[in-house]
Amino acid sequence: MSHPLQITVLGATGSIGLSTLDVIARHPERYQTFALTAFNRIAELRGLCRQHRPRYAVVASSDQARVLQEQLIGDGLQTRVLVGEGGLSEVAAHPETDVVMAAIVGAAGLRPTLAAIQADKRVLLANKEALVMSGALFMQALRQSRAVLLPIDSEHNAIFQCLPGDYAQGLSGVGVRRILLTASGGPFREWPLEQLSDVTVEQACTHPNWSMGRKISVDSASMMNKGLELIEACWLFDARPDQVEVVIHPQSVIHSMVDYVDGSVLAQLGNPDMRTPIAHALAWPERIDSGVSALDLVRIGHLDFHAPDEQRFPCLRMARQAAQNGGTAPAMLNAANEVAVDAFLEGRIRFTEIASIIEDVLNREASVAVHCLGDVLGADAQARRLASHWLEGHNR
Ligand code: NAD
Ligand code: MG
Repeated sequence: MSHPLQITVLGATGSIGLSTLDVIARHPERYQTFALTAFNRIAELRGLCRQHRPRYAVVASSDQARVLQEQLIGDGLQTRVLVGEGGLSEVAAHPETDVVMAAIVGAAGLRPTLAAIQADKRVLLANKEALVMSGALFMQALRQSRAVLLPIDSEHNAIFQCLPGDYAQGLSGVGVRRILLTASGGPFREWPLEQLSDVTVEQACTHPNWSMGRKISVDSASMMNKGLELIEACWLFDARPDQVEVVIHPQSVIHSMVDYVDGSVLAQLGNPDMRTPIAHALAWPERIDSGVSALDLVRIGHLDFHAPDEQRFPCLRMARQAAQNGGTAPAMLNAANEVAVDAFLEGRIRFTEIASIIEDVLNREASVAVHCLGDVLGADAQARRLASHWLEGHNR
């Protein structure tokens, strides 16, 4: 390799961002940090800048930028601080960026991720919400570019690893019968149904197997995460919703599987540590050390599988329905969920009301066809308005 690849990490202070920096730091001859971005936790971003010495840092407001810029100069760093969505898209599409890790949480990551695709980057996609909300346009932008999209979500990274190199002709063209999307079932898989309305924020954010940001932890507890992943899989692998089957697998050792027409089922296994898919996508098609310890199957002993319970997890059912409806339905589902999860994290609603809000929004606003990004952003804004309206009525 002639020179180290320049890496932009969108959402550097998050769980995925930090895991990415951990892998990058193990391979200084291969990777250099080009830009780091954060929305808050600016003191942590400063620490990351001191450690990784990026060319750029991006923050949300001009005030944050001014303070951070002065501090970084005081630290003797050359890092230039940029601001807001313009700054995010600038570093994502910068001519000297080779790889973009899209690890902002939620709809806020859509524009910079699209900017990276349009600028022909190698894009490592963790930010599933961006793809869920704009699927058709996102994949069209990808086809019209020379960008390479590699999935970071552990399930999709597993599926990618279990598919043959070229599945551009569709899944049936390569003999795939179904995708088996595994799910841990989250912390409430076996709780009595009537106790779910009393779940605390702390209980919802404590995942049995994975350590993650708060939004995705709540999504995992409600299984909306698996619903978003079902939609994500349909777009990434050109699958119909009925070709994606969710299987509860509490140990999170099999990260997903591909079932072929000849009866072969290929699976990817590993310890539940996001550094594995991150290292896979960074180095693909090569393999590099990720820092993850070897899988000890004898210690794990056995692997279990169950069917998901959609009464317990209405978010999964609504996501499957949104995938089938298409159009603006996934964008509305995602936006309503983002508002509802924020409200739950702020202690304003009960855990079970997350699903009530989403259901209310989807019942009020019919899905329409998507022609341009404005349609997606309009549906996102409308769903946020309706969800906020629900919350106002609730708090009155
Ligand atoms: P996190 O909350 O730990 O980090 C989110 C990052 O995004 C932070 O750096 C934050 O500063 C930034 N951010 C938040 N809001 C922003 C905004 N409005 N504008 C710009 N930046 C903003 O989240 P995470 O767990 O690292 O997840 C990141 C993404 O990766 C999510 O889409 C999640 O679904 C996906 N993902 C995460 C995991 C995991 O194990 N954590 C696994 C699979 C997929
Ligand atoms: Mg996942």
